[in-house]
Amino acid sequence: MSSRPVRVRFAPSPTGPLHMGGVRTALYNYLFAKKNNGTFVVRIEDTDQSRFVPGAQEYIMDSLKWCGIMPTEGPGLGGDFGPYVQSERQAMYGPYAEELVEKEKAYYAFDSSEDLTRMRDQAKEMGMPNWQYNCVTRGSMQNSTSLSSDEVAKRIKAGAPYVIRMKMPRNEDVRFHDEIRGWVVVNTNNIDDKVLFKSDGMPTYHLANIIDDHAMEISHVIRGEEWLPSAPLHVMLYEAFGWDTPKFAHLPLLLKPDGNGKLSKRDGDRLGFPVFPTSWTTVEGDVFSGYRENGYSPEAFINMLAFLGWNPGTTQEIFSLEDLNSAFSLERVSKAGAKFDPDKTRWFQQQYLRATDDSVLAEELSLFLGNKYPVNSLITVCALVKERATFIEDIWTEGSFLMERPVEFDEKTIRKKWKGNAAELMNAWSNKLTGASSFSTESIELLFKAFLTEKELGIGAVLPLFRLLLTGRGMGPNMFDVSAFLGKDECVERLRAGLAKMAELNTGE
Ligand code: GLU
Repeated sequence: MSSRPVRVRFAPSPTGPLHMGGVRTALYNYLFAKKNNGTFVVRIEDTDQSRFVPGAQEYIMDSLKWCGIMPTEGPGLGGDFGPYVQSERQAMYGPYAEELVEKEKAYYAFDSSEDLTRMRDQAKEMGMPNWQYNCVTRGSMQNSTSLSSDEVAKRIKAGAPYVIRMKMPRNEDVRFHDEIRGWVVVNTNNIDDKVLFKSDGMPTYHLANIIDDHAMEISHVIRGEEWLPSAPLHVMLYEAFGWDTPKFAHLPLLLKPDGNGKLSKRDGDRLGFPVFPTSWTTVEGDVFSGYRENGYSPEAFINMLAFLGWNPGTTQEIFSLEDLNSAFSLERVSKAGAKFDPDKTRWFQQQYLRATDDSVLAEELSLFLGNKYPVNSLITVCALVKERATFIEDIWTEGSFLMERPVEFDEKTIRKKWKGNAAELMNAWSNKLTGASSFSTESIELLFKAFLTEKELGIGAVLPLFRLLLTGRGMGPNMFDVSAFLGKDECVERLRAGLAKMAELNTGE
């Protein structure tokens, strides 16, 4: 690796919310910076004003914050290389574009959009559907390579609108080394004369991107594969300016869970998973809920994303952000597209929920329930049912009976188990519990075993009845833990109420 300090950037355009692919790019940049004692920069690329979406920049910064992968330099954060929003840097790009014209690496082009459409249509009629503005066609267009310098000066003086285009040389190989893909070679005959500077006085993405990467001393450009076709042009621009080229790493695409296409927002709607980190409201008022709103913890989300294109080379799957900081390397990022797996995503969430301290979960559960119950009781609820949950709300679905008496009683269990002398048996058991001198998990279990021996019955004949009356359910956590948590009075009261309910349903006969 070069001795240059590591500085990487995430450079989103504020054209909408961050899709999880964007978060993955930000994450890999963040991890690469951490691993190499470098700096992670966020730069907002808003030169295409026609695609600007209000609120997108704030969304991007807020969701990085939720994910726990904040940059050290960026809009609103400061740093020595600002401003970090391209529209605020607008004044600096024009002179660089002029410099390229002077060096004959670029040229002025006066063609109107009607001229360009006409050329494309004519070419199509002649059986050439992919007309390009390039070394072959530029001579027949209106630009400073085809017009006399007097004519060019005249037009500019008269205020004729123009763009500045890259003068792509004929038949040269552009070579660069990608940290993930190895050597990439592209012939310039396959690249058109891209617009670098627009008639509205704004640079295009290509020009602004490389000027800023240079100005911000970016050492490594880590970005999505969709930018790979732009990289040869970028390399040529660095050469044209005489600047050092940063290292490039193009990350693999995220693929649909089914099929091979690129993962899109529509796949999320179609298959029912979020594609944005946090919720996004469109200008029309449509709301897309995010991973946060769907109950995912940022740690689980980040852990899952880290594995979409990277692996540690071991079987370990659970990585905290700190673990990832030290384990991550570009060498272990794969070239092949990474298939997004919603089930695996849920699995990560489940692992994180299980590993979270009961007291932390209880605070979250309390918030979810509108602070209706004492947090201390919720700690036990979490301890008893978290193994059966993936999200905080599942803890409530699985364990609400611990805080509230059952109203409904599981019909299947009633049908299968509530027969013969069930009522008599539960009455007798209720009496045993009333007489219990201690009400710990262990003592209730001992009492229960003695009851089974006395009645000469197996556990399967009695425990489901007890569970049904106490919890209303057919399944759930350990009944002796549940009983100890509820306490004697509550248990006996629930048995009494449950018996009354069964009698009412008249299923005992
Ligand atoms: N502004 C580009 C985007 O929206 C950045 C591409 C790059 O990282 O060079 O993704």
